[in-house]
Amino acid sequence: MITLESFLRGEWVAGRGAGATLLDPTTGQPVATASTEGLDLGAAVRHAREVGGPALRALTFAERGAVLKALSKAIHEHRDALIDASILNAGTPRSDAKFDVDGASGTLAYYASLGKRLGDARWIAEESEQLTQSVRFHGRHVWVPLRGVAVHVNAFNFPAWGLAEKLAVALLAGVPVISKPATATALTSYRMAKVMVETGALPPGSFQLLSGSAGDLLDHLGPQDALAFTGSADTGLSLRGRHNVLASSTRVNVEADSLNAAILCEDASDETYGAFLRDVAQEVTQKSGQKCTATRRVLVPAAQVDRVQADLIDRIGRVVIGNPAHKDVRMGPLATAQQKADYVAGVEKLVASGARIVWGHPTEVELVDADARAGFFVGPVLLRADDPASAAAVHEHEVFGPCTTLLPYQTTEEAIALVAKGGGGLVASVYGDDRDQLGALVLGLAPFHGRVLMGSKKVADQAISPGLVLPSCVHGGPGRAGGGEELGGERGLRFYMQRCAVQGDRALLDKMLVG
Ligand code: NAP
Repeated sequence: MITLESFLRGEWVAGRGAGATLLDPTTGQPVATASTEGLDLGAAVRHAREVGGPALRALTFAERGAVLKALSKAIHEHRDALIDASILNAGTPRSDAKFDVDGASGTLAYYASLGKRLGDARWIAEESEQLTQSVRFHGRHVWVPLRGVAVHVNAFNFPAWGLAEKLAVALLAGVPVISKPATATALTSYRMAKVMVETGALPPGSFQLLSGSAGDLLDHLGPQDALAFTGSADTGLSLRGRHNVLASSTRVNVEADSLNAAILCEDASDETYGAFLRDVAQEVTQKSGQKCTATRRVLVPAAQVDRVQADLIDRIGRVVIGNPAHKDVRMGPLATAQQKADYVAGVEKLVASGARIVWGHPTEVELVDADARAGFFVGPVLLRADDPASAAAVHEHEVFGPCTTLLPYQTTEEAIALVAKGGGGLVASVYGDDRDQLGALVLGLAPFHGRVLMGSKKVADQAISPGLVLPSCVHGGPGRAGGGEELGGERGLRFYMQRCAVQGDRALLDKMLVG
């Protein structure tokens, strides 16, 4: 069993005491421990501000991009070892582990290219505007990096991608990072951090890792710092409500729960219908449904709901569940015993609220090469609520596992109203071929989402599944989803930068704001 150390002030250090035990979710056996007890996190914050910040701000965007490129390359080179760590500690089959690890290297590579494109500058200047009748007196908005630290607190489900996507954006913006992965699955994050540190490419103080509980880290946040959190809505609420965070207006970005919906339109062609089935089945079982972007509600024209139910059962029923290290297995266990208990209770809650199980069982499941009594295995479940508006929990309670609920609808307006009951989500997907109906759905759903995916005949073969988060498009959503926004190409950098309107002599401004 290994001890996960933290990387603080340029050194790998272990906390005192036994700390938390990380398990193999397939067998329930311990694989590592992590403790942050006794570590001086105030000193880590000062180190980031005093050493990491100046080192990063001395670099141009292109130079910071080169750092990201080196990290991306190293992660890719150590891909197999990272995938093994994910199989061992997150219970993900190889295909799901690749999704996480390749997502990490891919996002770093994307922001490396953006850095190259932003070139030799160290800040971003917007267009100049004349402010008075004088052609000489202008104003220009300029974005400069904050002088503090970016603290990243991540969820258990993407130990590689979650760390890398936040890191890429903050480093490119010029702000040093202290990253705190979720403890339960921190082995992959730890191994990835080792790989990144060993590149020697990270400027001193620009990256620190906390393996284990957050301790008093957040007590040290102040007005020039930024906190980016991914996890449950309850934790998000408590973190953003901290006194020091509120008193000093620390920037906070929250990515939380989401009842993502897929909507099938009445006129969908065979190709579009095929894409809809493929995506929904994938979103239910990929990473055992432990994705913030997984499809939790499936809206179907009432006349088609029986057919969709049968077709989805056929697809989901073919997924092989069991030991994630086995080559035939496509769905592994949930990450922790608590997640399993929450899943079982969550399905019960949906049933109590008016949904019924039309296929599957939360715990009775046939496994390949695994012992159901030892690991945290669950079965995929398809539910259906024939009176969708009254099944409140279906729209309010995110069950973080392999289940989804079929909801019949009659009109486009009703479909939009049902999706809106989710209170704000990360992504909605609509599948159809009638331009007017697609347009009405997209405009009706957009106020409630950070992203809407349109599946239609011409892109049925090429479109990505809605659960895939790409660095070029924003990730986040209003309301229940946390009200945050990450990624989105250059847009993501703004969270770590201050916008300042600089006013004065146009010629002087133009000269000053080069580079
Ligand atoms: P969680 O219990 O809220 O934990 C998330 C992170 O917060 C972990 O790193 C955890 O550390 C840390 N944390 C908990 N209490 C804290 C405190 N008082 N101070 C500082 N840090 C604290 O959530 P989870 O169980 O890992 O994740 C599951 C949830 O995340 C799901 O509900 C899902 O919807 C949501 N999620 C959202 C997204 C998104 O992008 N919107 C992505 C993935 C997951 P420890 O592990 O050390 O306790």
